[in-house]
Amino acid sequence: MIEVIGIIGGSGLDKADILKNAKEVKIETPYGKPSSPLVVGEIAGKKVAIISRHGKKHGIMPSNVNNRANIWALKDQRVKHVLATTACGSLREEITRGMIVFPDQFIDWTSKRSSTFFDKDKVCHIPMADPFCQKLRELLIEKAKELKLSHRPEGVIVTIEGPRFSTRAESNMFRKIGGDIINMSTVPEIVLAREAGMCYQAIAMATDYDCWRAEETVDIATVLEVFKSNVENVKKLLLETIPKINFTECDCQKHIDGAIINVGED
Ligand SMILES: [Zn+2]
Repeated sequence: MIEVIGIIGGSGLDKADILKNAKEVKIETPYGKPSSPLVVGEIAGKKVAIISRHGKKHGIMPSNVNNRANIWALKDQRVKHVLATTACGSLREEITRGMIVFPDQFIDWTSKRSSTFFDKDKVCHIPMADPFCQKLRELLIEKAKELKLSHRPEGVIVTIEGPRFSTRAESNMFRKIGGDIINMSTVPEIVLAREAGMCYQAIAMATDYDCWRAEETVDIATVLEVFKSNVENVKKLLLETIPKINFTECDCQKHIDGAIINVGED
């Protein structure tokens, strides 16, 4: 079976111009429509499917992203590895604008999102101690070093509900509880990917300091401007990394085995 690499593109990285022989695939799922049609094509002979998280015109706000439909659509295309790009704010002095962070942990501060595929006759307690894929992360770090990209090999990403940004009190709290970067999109996308038996790694680009820094106030125009200017780096990273994804088995893909409990069966 040919496996497909999935890319979930965040702000600025939602165009599929890195693919050869690209074609659009529209998918309906039991959870409704994904954020965008998939664009399926190739990178160095590997099959790749890209979905645009916020829709092609960036019109879907974070709380309304249909994560279940997005992950389902990728699974439908036989995706087993997901690389997810995301803009994030920095909660640490040393994480500077334009730096790429490969998070290894998350803190979930969302409140309104469907975070499981199993909400009817089954309960799924998916293990989440190490949520990101170690193998994908190591590959990305290796390539980021080769490309001499400013990066940080690990970090804790806080996902907030949004769409508003944090208050200073919240921003300081997130620093105190161990957050390094902050965004609105990684959770529950990553959780659903694990339920779907996929490896998942985020490529988080720090676009600005979050408002904990006294002189900083976050505004979306700056966020998008910095993100766009660094999009080329992330594209290079994807083009270099994807051809090297040669592992088919990974612990991430096995967590779903044994995590599901049938309910209502006396
Ligand atoms: Zn993995």
